[in-house]
Amino acid sequence: MAEGYTYKVPLLSKGKLYDGGLKELEFRKMKIPERVILSSAKSPLQKLRAILKNCLVSPVSFDIDSLLLPDAAWCIMHIRAESISPQFTWNAQCPHCGQINKVSKTLPNDLIIKDDIDLDNIVEPFEVEANGNKYGIKFLRMSSQIASERNRNTNPQLQEDELVTVLAMRLDSINGDHINYREAIKHIKEMDYMPSMNLTDAIEKQDFGSDLEVMATCEYGTCGLEFKTTVAMGAEFFRPTEG
Ligand SMILES: [Zn+2]
Repeated sequence: MAEGYTYKVPLLSKGKLYDGGLKELEFRKMKIPERVILSSAKSPLQKLRAILKNCLVSPVSFDIDSLLLPDAAWCIMHIRAESISPQFTWNAQCPHCGQINKVSKTLPNDLIIKDDIDLDNIVEPFEVEANGNKYGIKFLRMSSQIASERNRNTNPQLQEDELVTVLAMRLDSINGDHINYREAIKHIKEMDYMPSMNLTDAIEKQDFGSDLEVMATCEYGTCGLEFKTTVAMGAEFFRPTEG
């Protein structure tokens, strides 16, 4: 590969959710500085953000913190495929027989977005109905994730239950009335178990993103169970695997 090799990643949001209708980002491959990042004491999220920042070639002025999380995960998959290998293998335990299966997928194609999402009509915030309410839902950006991580680490008294935080950060409005983060926290905390499940389900149905949950088949004996396994984007993700 030539010295200045770069590649373009078409964003999942198709230019709908960034200033100037940005449709793609251009990256270089990972080099030594990114290996140093991976072995540093940074959190997994900070590592991914630093890799994205370092490898971004154009547009030079693009602020990585404004990246939507689904786009960020999508770009990371491409960077991993270009820099290491498109083949990614990990160990997943069968929930039935307990055996460890090797699961192998090709990045990014095997982890492509859910096909029932209409990416051409993507808007922010999008609306979901749950429990008789209309919720305006926004997509999460790198900046909000980094901020929530920082809060968790530095202000334990501000720490909210993880699920509450994740849902509250996404709420933009209820029945057309805009709500702020504090109000969202209050609303979510007062929700009963089932309504909160309904809201989560409604959001998941409308969400776009690279699918980090994939199906695997247990290959031990006569087990053959089809089970769901999750692709974790930690340090393991950047370790080359055979095959
Ligand atoms: Zn099994």
